[in-house]
Parts: sequence; structure tokens; C-alpha cells
Amino acid sequence: MALDASGRGRARGRGGEPGVKLTVIGSSGTYPTPTNACSGYLFSSEGFNLQVDCGPGTFVEGQEYCSVEELDAVILTHWHPDHCTDIYPLFYALRFHPDSPARLPVYAPAGAERHLFAFLSGDSREEFQRVFDFRVIDEASELEAGPFKLRFARTHHPVETLAVSVQEGAHRIVYSSDTGPDGGYPGLAAGADICICESTYEYAGQGPPIHLSAGEAGSIAANAGVGRLCLAHIFPTVDARRCVGEASEAFGEEVGCVVQGDRIEL
Ligand SMILES: [Zn+2]
Repeated sequence: MALDASGRGRARGRGGEPGVKLTVIGSSGTYPTPTNACSGYLFSSEGFNLQVDCGPGTFVEGQEYCSVEELDAVILTHWHPDHCTDIYPLFYALRFHPDSPARLPVYAPAGAERHLFAFLSGDSREEFQRVFDFRVIDEASELEAGPFKLRFARTHHPVETLAVSVQEGAHRIVYSSDTGPDGGYPGLAAGADICICESTYEYAGQGPPIHLSAGEAGSIAANAGVGRLCLAHIFPTVDARRCVGEASEAFGEEVGCVVQGDRIEL
């Protein structure tokens, strides 16, 4: 498979037949930019569409790839605003949809629904629960959503946060969500075909160990034996090229960097 350093290449397996397709709706760290929404990843296979995270900007951009009625399930990895607040425009689009689509499953750690619910008032609260079917997940959860087998690991982050393993057939992509060097992400990443890993800090130790630098992301991926590493959640003011260089050095191979609109197929 081939992924260029910018992450804009395509990875294919099965003799050229695409299996799981990952579309990057957005990957900007902490706040969106005019060209890159915050975290949102659309996994598609066999007509099933799973969106992981709904960061600011993802609702608008996401409709380029999947209409709201075509969405089959959502995972929110944690309730920090840069990963979940576009659940609200999704809510209103479904609430007022002329065909009233069936309840959309939303998998999220305990407490996420309560925090999101708090912004609503009046009959929007009832409607929120009518539109969405919130289901609590934790690091022990193992789910099947359409063709995807999903596993999770709790990361080291200030609120309960889950890294996600998305497997379809023999192929597996792991998304770190937000994580420090410790926690369950490195174990979940072991042997993955592709890891989409956060790279928030400009250098290791820039802040508390609740995020990673590019070098740390590369080291974890190397130790975990992942096939390919793609950086994400890079802070908008950080030089992404330098991050890619540092991660590549630590990983031992060329690393990619995914941004809004990138597609990976395997
Ligand atoms: Zn976070």
C-alpha cells in the first residue's frame, strides 16, 4: 500500500479491491481552521457508515461524504468540546428531518450524554433522547457495528477517553483519540495496519502527560509494531512538517499526516 508523507495517498489491499474506507472529516487539534475541521473520522464499508468523533466543523464537512440519513452509528471518544460539539447540528438535522430517521446509536463513555444534555432545554431534551440512542462503552466493550468489530482502550487523559480499534475482516485501523504516553492506547495499537495518532505537543513534556509529541507518537507506534503511522490532532500553530520528520525518525519509517478530506482504503 502507498501513503505519501502528507497522508494523501491511498492504501489498498485485496488485490486492489477496497475494503474499509476511512475518510478524514477533520483532524485539527483543539480548534478548527478554515481548511481542517476538528476530529472526525468516517469509516465506511459494505454501505455502513460509522463516524468516530464529531468535533467542531465536522457536521458541515461530513456531509460532503455522508448525508445524515446515511449515517449508521457514531462513537464519541470523550466529551471534550473539540471531539463532540458537532453532535448538536447533527441532532437538529435529524430532529427536523422530513423522514424522521430511526434512532441513531451513539456510543460514548459514561457521562458524555449527561454533559451534552446539559446544553439543551425544554422539548429539545426529549427530542435529543428520541433522535439518539446513547449507549455507554468502556475499555472492556467489544462491539459489532455493521461490518466493523470495535474494541477500545482507556487512554491517559483528564476525562474518560477511549482509543478505538476498527477492524473489518483482516484489516485494522486504530485511532488514538487524545492520549498521553501511558494508558491503554499502546496496547490497542499493537499490530494494527494503520494508526491515526494524536500529536498535539510541539515537544515531549510541553505540558502534562495527557497528549503526545510527534516523537512520542512515533516511538509508541514503533514499539507497537504498527504498519503505518499517520499523525493527527496537530495544534494549528505547530509546524506539521517538522512533526512528520520527528515522528518518522522515531518510527523508523516515513510517517503521514492526515487532514480534512484525506481518504485511506485498505
Ligand atoms: Zn481531549
